[in-house]
Amino acid sequence: MTDSLLKVKELGQMKIDQLQKELDEIAQEAESLNKIDAISNDKKIEELRGEILQIRSKLPKLKEEILRQEKLTSGLVEMGKPTKEQLEKLRERKKIFLLLTLVVLFISNIGFCGQKVFVLCYHSFLSNKRFPTDFSPEELRNHLVILKNNGFSVISVSDFINSKVTGNKNILITIDDGNESVFRIYNEILKPLDIKPLLAIYPAIISRKKYAMTWEQLKELSADGWEIASHGYFHEKLNQKFYDKSKARFLFEIEKSKKVLENKFQKPITIFVYPFGLRSPITIETLKNNGFKYAFTIDGGGISLPVSSADKLYEIPRYMMTQSNWKNNLEKVIKKANQ
Ligand SMILES: [Zn+2]
Repeated sequence: MTDSLLKVKELGQMKIDQLQKELDEIAQEAESLNKIDAISNDKKIEELRGEILQIRSKLPKLKEEILRQEKLTSGLVEMGKPTKEQLEKLRERKKIFLLLTLVVLFISNIGFCGQKVFVLCYHSFLSNKRFPTDFSPEELRNHLVILKNNGFSVISVSDFINSKVTGNKNILITIDDGNESVFRIYNEILKPLDIKPLLAIYPAIISRKKYAMTWEQLKELSADGWEIASHGYFHEKLNQKFYDKSKARFLFEIEKSKKVLENKFQKPITIFVYPFGLRSPITIETLKNNGFKYAFTIDGGGISLPVSSADKLYEIPRYMMTQSNWKNNLEKVIKKANQ
């Protein structure tokens, strides 16, 4: 663009030079004719006078043409200079426009379209078909492959809490009860894939039952970024019925569990996972009073982030994965994420 402007400027200058030359010549001729004009009484002189008038009549037009060319050239020169600046301005504007577009997209993504998270609830990986909630490590791997092939990312609890997720295809894996098989699939499957699930632990069985993990194993998982949630102390049904039956035992489930876990992991425990998914308003109230900020159910469904009301964080839905419904659950998740 700048090159072509310079060429036009050059052509304009040439035209000005040419016209200036023509004007000089005419002026010279006119001057000589004027001198002749001084001499009268000659037919020739009359003819010359006619010529002079003709040439003089041409002058304003030529002057006009010169001025026009000059204007055009200087205009182009003027245009040429700001063009660079204008280009800069355009680039700046383009940048700002792109930035604004991104901001608008970002805001619409978080504010209107929302990000969605789907939480899956697993229990054990013993390859034992007698337990409806049990899967083989290969089956778990297959679920992860299906999700990955459908564009899902596996997120961590911290991603969830901080809304560090994009789009609708986010999966949070939670594993309840602290079964010993969890530690095996950690090494075999989850660690290589950098997947950090949320573990729901009830302290009564840890390091006490053969089928449960040890505190040492849990500490290793915690150190590797797995989040620990309280799952009660004895895995009681924490609803109004249980509260009415024994307020002390009800409170023990929530308070003691939190205390033990915080002591073992040396960090605040702010997430609760309802045993059997059961809860009542008194359960949520007690959780709030004890500094819990999030609680997971097994109601099924996705959760949109950021949540519209803090209360929703005490009933975060999860899909409970069983041998009979895992396929149906994954289909639901995929369908909902594509809506
Ligand atoms: Zn449980």
